[in-house]
Amino acid sequence: MSLKGIGVSPGVVVGSVHRIIHVDVTGPVPGTITSVLAALDAVANDLEHRAENIDLELAKDVLSAQAMIARDPSLEEALGQLLIADTQYADVRPGIDEAFSGFRNALLSLGGYFAERVEDLDEIAHRTVLKLSGLEAEDVALTKPSVVIAQDLTPADTAALDLNYALALVVEKGGPTSHTAIVARGLGIPAIVGCAGALVLEADVTVLVDGREGIVIPSPTDSEISQRQETEAKLRVRAESVTGPGRLSDGTAIALMGNAGNENDALSAAKAEAEGIGLFRTELLFLDRQTEPSVDDQVSMYRAVFDAMGERKVIVRTLDAGSDKPVPFLNAVDEENPALGVRGWRLTRIANDVLERQLEAIGRAANETSADVWVMAPMIDTPAEAAEFATRARAHGIAKVGVMIETPAAALLADKVLAEVDFASLGTNDLTQYVMAADRLDSRLSDLTSSWHPAVLRAISQAAHAAGDAGKPIGVCGESAANPQLAAVLLGLGVTSLSMAPSAIAEVRGYLAGLDLSACHRAAHAAINARSAEEAREQVIQILGA
Ligand code: PEP
Ligand code: MG
Repeated sequence: MSLKGIGVSPGVVVGSVHRIIHVDVTGPVPGTITSVLAALDAVANDLEHRAENIDLELAKDVLSAQAMIARDPSLEEALGQLLIADTQYADVRPGIDEAFSGFRNALLSLGGYFAERVEDLDEIAHRTVLKLSGLEAEDVALTKPSVVIAQDLTPADTAALDLNYALALVVEKGGPTSHTAIVARGLGIPAIVGCAGALVLEADVTVLVDGREGIVIPSPTDSEISQRQETEAKLRVRAESVTGPGRLSDGTAIALMGNAGNENDALSAAKAEAEGIGLFRTELLFLDRQTEPSVDDQVSMYRAVFDAMGERKVIVRTLDAGSDKPVPFLNAVDEENPALGVRGWRLTRIANDVLERQLEAIGRAANETSADVWVMAPMIDTPAEAAEFATRARAHGIAKVGVMIETPAAALLADKVLAEVDFASLGTNDLTQYVMAADRLDSRLSDLTSSWHPAVLRAISQAAHAAGDAGKPIGVCGESAANPQLAAVLLGLGVTSLSMAPSAIAEVRGYLAGLDLSACHRAAHAAINARSAEEAREQVIQILGA
């Protein structure tokens, strides 16, 4: 039986399984300060040795940075203060945990690059405890071309993989933005995350991995292999064959834009010939910030993205902090139910000035650049919220003001919400989560968290009609825009632009170039009348082709 996860890096490969089973220590770890320091030293030696012997620059850097942390004298000093010399402890783990957590907090409070090293620090603590227990860390050394299967991969694991031999990555945990996904995309190898049950696959079993569809097929037949390889090759050719602005075969122009969280993403979008940035996720600049960046700092952060786009459009989203994207200086309070709590626009209830300063910075940055800057607010529920946002944004000189429609309330009231603003953008990731009442990060609910679901498509249809009646643009900036067939359905429902990860643009452009608007309408009609996400997808593929 095949396994299903979330495909995060496309490509089809066939290879034998290499399982990485996470080794952990549950019982007490006896030792002394001397044995702890010796274990830490051995971990540092291992890391240095691996850094020296690996060809890949990216991996060398991660391993060397980890070795430097393990050798940091202040770590040794912290351990020395917590574990008394010449004392035999029945369990040294509490001392190790405390020393590392002090160091961890220090890194976090430095922010930026240092805060990003926290995962590496955790990895060093883990390896030190394993050494003291006489266990070796999980072995990621590959000896032949393999499909790597794990529960999750740490940055060090992925860095240590010999990539000449890693054919694909499949992990049980993680979402589309996890470390594994980002590394795999960077390396251009197929990857699947959130693949529940993947570890039941035994070592050396031959599997087919389809990183586009998120499918793993154990012991595939020859016809399964050739069929998927042919489809993949065809899709690549189609993606490369069309360039320039997005257009349907009947000439209908469809703006294809990129989603960005920083300057690099914006540069990738420009390279992919995006017509602009349809979603600039500003909170991603703040995820490791313990304190709010000053207005001046924010101006330069935003300008970097604006300038990368020249004169093109950039739709800036104000901070969508909270839930799956907590920002330390804003989301300090534990919430019972963060996805339904104080996130996005709702943060104005507890930190109103933060939004004011952000709008000031966006307005100033927009003034200093030639990009065409539009601004929108996330998690808007009501017309009153939309009106308040519009008034405040316009007061900062922002000409085009909009909202995200990502809650059922905003979709149902789209006519009234749109009356207050110039445009809307459908956040289909959250809209799906809230329409279906299913956590978008929970891989066990993937049949419910599909934006193909007719319930979600009907909500989109209602909002798109309202926008059409009002003569205002409505885009989609959720992951659904990156799926070529679903993108066609969205256009058929009345959406006027699509924004996606820059890496998806070529494929969507190539697919849409072969369809006219009436085909999109037929597909949309079938999809909203289906009974399930799967049925909607199947019917649309029958109408439009894969
Ligand atoms: C969405 O919800 O669809 C969206 C684009 O925003 P985010 O994924 O950042 O919540
Ligand atoms: Mg959202």
